[in-house]
Amino acid sequence: MKEFYLDHAATTYVKPEVLDVMLPFFCDKFANPSSMYKIAKDSREAVEHAREQVAKAIGADADEIYFTSGGSEADNLIIKGYARANKDKGNHIITSKIEHMAVLETCKMLEKEGFEITYLDVDENGFVDLEQLKQSVNSQTLLISIMLANNEIGTIQPVDEIAKIAKQNGVLFHTDAVQAVGNLKIDVKKMDIGALSLSAHKFYGPKGVGALYIRKKYNFQSIISGGHQEKHKRAGTENLPGIVGMGKAIELAMSNLEEHAEKLINVRDEYIEKIFERVPNVRLNGDKTKRLPGNANISFEGVGGASLLLMLSEDKIYVSSASACTAGLATPSHVLKAIGLSDELANATLRVTFGENSSKSDLEYIVEKIAENVNKLRKLKK
Ligand SMILES: *Cc1c(COP(=O)(O)O)cnc(C)c1O
Repeated sequence: MKEFYLDHAATTYVKPEVLDVMLPFFCDKFANPSSMYKIAKDSREAVEHAREQVAKAIGADADEIYFTSGGSEADNLIIKGYARANKDKGNHIITSKIEHMAVLETCKMLEKEGFEITYLDVDENGFVDLEQLKQSVNSQTLLISIMLANNEIGTIQPVDEIAKIAKQNGVLFHTDAVQAVGNLKIDVKKMDIGALSLSAHKFYGPKGVGALYIRKKYNFQSIISGGHQEKHKRAGTENLPGIVGMGKAIELAMSNLEEHAEKLINVRDEYIEKIFERVPNVRLNGDKTKRLPGNANISFEGVGGASLLLMLSEDKIYVSSASACTAGLATPSHVLKAIGLSDELANATLRVTFGENSSKSDLEYIVEKIAENVNKLRKLKK
């Protein structure tokens, strides 16, 4: 029986072309990039080549890229590293209520260190309140950290305007672009983004590797003590195969970004249309058009999202009930709560995220199974 993986926002598979370039770096070209002998030069060059690939994809310079173990570490590194390095200049950080846990939990930790955090509200579609943002900036504000696109509801934030507000106030603007890279065009210079987090396993690269971009003029400190790697900003021997794989994955993603996005939008819109045709009492969460190409987040009134997810899994359809990171927790999604959903409706929600291999021809079966299982669950409740 065919399988339908519809959880690309949780993670993607590694493309064969990506695996191919990674393989030599496990057994043959394994030298530590920091070593002195000749063969280590190959490792160093491979890391620097990947750095250029990542930089080019987002319009940055190579020396503005720092490799990390993924998106979570990049978020931690910029928020903790920038706040701690600049605490003589201020103690205030602005973020939003719908950020990924890697940002929210990091901010909570900084509150314990004496930093003050403003968590901006969002409207019913998940857009941050720009007026509230303007009013929140003060002389103590060091950093504004607002995600480029939300991992649960897909909403794409008005980053140009956020960047403008940050610039007018001389504040660093960081964006968690983990969901955006590989789906949306990004140019950090044109968009005036001061810092950005990305992660390879969200764009068909390997897990456990990511990067932080930070514009040269900003100083920050390391959060992992040890060796001199990454210009003393991230100690630890580089994940050589992972970094090489990320470089290739981001290059591939950029080579057909527009077609890829267009394809996903087509499949997504038809899915949403079919669900609305076939299933009564549903609600689309997030903005209709300013959303990630592959994201469809829909609440099914009166249905337990977790039960629905497990039933679909029997039909070999793999989706998410909230974000993967919070799955398993009984508490309703903080994102869905922030856009105004009740606990019950938040828990009645399914996130479907399409990817490269998703096809319109699969939608008939997928929607049929969702409709069938929603009906079953609704009948059980009566
Ligand atoms: C997946 C994700 C992360 C975490 O990235 P990891 O590489 O898994 O640590 C952070 N932010 C967003 C928006 C994500 O979707």
